[in-house]
Amino acid sequence: MKNVTVLGGGIGGIEAAIALRKEGLDVTLVSDREYLYIWPVSIWIPTRQIEFEDVIIPLEELAKKHNFNLIIDRVKEIKTNTNSVVLENQTISYEYLVVSLGADKIKHPGIENTLSICGKPEDSLKLREKLDTLISQGEGKIAIGFGGNPKDPSATRGGPAYEVIFNIDHYLRRKGLRDNFELTFFAPMTNPGARMGENALVTMNQFFKRTNINTHFGKKIKEFSQDGIIFEDETKLDSDLTMFISAGTVKEELRNSDLPLTEAGFIKIDEHCQVKGLDNVYAIGDIANLEGPQWRSKQGHVAEVMARVTAQNIKASIQGSPKRHGYKEHLNILCIMDTGNGAAYIYRDDHKERLVPLPVIGGWLKRGWRQYYRLSKLKKIPRIPGM
Ligand SMILES: Cc1cc2nc3c(=O)[nH]c(=O)nc-3n(C[C@H](O)[C@H](O)[C@H](O)COP(=O)(O)OP(=O)(O)OC[C@H]3O[C@@H](n4cnc5c(N)ncnc54)[C@H](O)[C@@H]3O)c2cc1C
Repeated sequence: MKNVTVLGGGIGGIEAAIALRKEGLDVTLVSDREYLYIWPVSIWIPTRQIEFEDVIIPLEELAKKHNFNLIIDRVKEIKTNTNSVVLENQTISYEYLVVSLGADKIKHPGIENTLSICGKPEDSLKLREKLDTLISQGEGKIAIGFGGNPKDPSATRGGPAYEVIFNIDHYLRRKGLRDNFELTFFAPMTNPGARMGENALVTMNQFFKRTNINTHFGKKIKEFSQDGIIFEDETKLDSDLTMFISAGTVKEELRNSDLPLTEAGFIKIDEHCQVKGLDNVYAIGDIANLEGPQWRSKQGHVAEVMARVTAQNIKASIQGSPKRHGYKEHLNILCIMDTGNGAAYIYRDDHKERLVPLPVIGGWLKRGWRQYYRLSKLKKIPRIPGM
């Protein structure tokens, strides 16, 4: 049986390991974390709607259920010229390789003065702690925002920033403290969120007005300080708690590796997720360069599609079949965005844009998705095809 090594135990890597096992291949997965972190529901940690333990699935359990080998170690370097990967504690070789290590974040000046829900998983707990402190003081200024990567707009991640600010708004209202807090949503773009579609843009701005959340758009960020954000024109937005989601950028480990990268630092792949110029190496998820429409976005469900396509293509390659599957036809923006007291269903592809507000029920849908994701990954319930 051919061996496939999967690097990364996140949303893309785990789906790849599962799909490759279904194809009957021998799989070894390498991860620097002992758990799979379910990013989309981590947004509830700062507002105490969920515990950290409920956002993780131990990799050991997944490895047992799906019968793949697990190595907990950190990837330092990928050497495709010798079909090997240098880990902190050993060097391993592979027949086929799937890279799904996620992306690093752009480091803006003063970024250490901010926290992010998209940083290290433990940062969600720091956010919760900081929010608790402000709540115990009874007042404060909270600024939440996101930035772009001019070299690759698909690496921008704004959705969780909207979700966290709407949840904080709702949390403070429930505590009867909302009037004592100034909430501001900031972004350097003039129309942040435009990629979700015109509809979504208008509705998000209505949400901000309705919830009395200030907006600060269209000014480039110069730096973050301990007590706020300084913009290029030297104006300042005061803040006691700043959450900022930097856009994705090159993964440090790739700087030492011999994979072809775009100018923005993502791995160059073809539409079959095969790394350009390398027959036995594939890249999926946030680390891979997505090609396609201007609105394309690095999302979890896209990482999962890429994982399944990759497993099929590796199997075909082993069997000597010319048949290949592509990821591009599955590209869309799809999310259930939490709005504090419910959610909004957001969808965009080349033909349609939708934003459907789902008060109350939307929150339950997202919670239901978490249960589905967890239980189906652990093989406790059957999977819905394509999910
Ligand atoms: C807060 C938040 C909310 C989100 N909400 C949604 C949503 O609602 N819908 C949606 O579709 N998408 C959402 N996303 C995006 C989605 O989570 C990502 O697109 C997806 O996780 C990408 O999968 P990945 O496997 O590429 O990366 P990840 O899931 O980040 O996994 C990368 C893995 O690689 C491991 N790793 C990294 N470096 C090394 C190393 N050197 N050695 C070994 N292992 C390493 C990490 O430990 C991690 O397990 C959200 C993201 C965030 C951060």
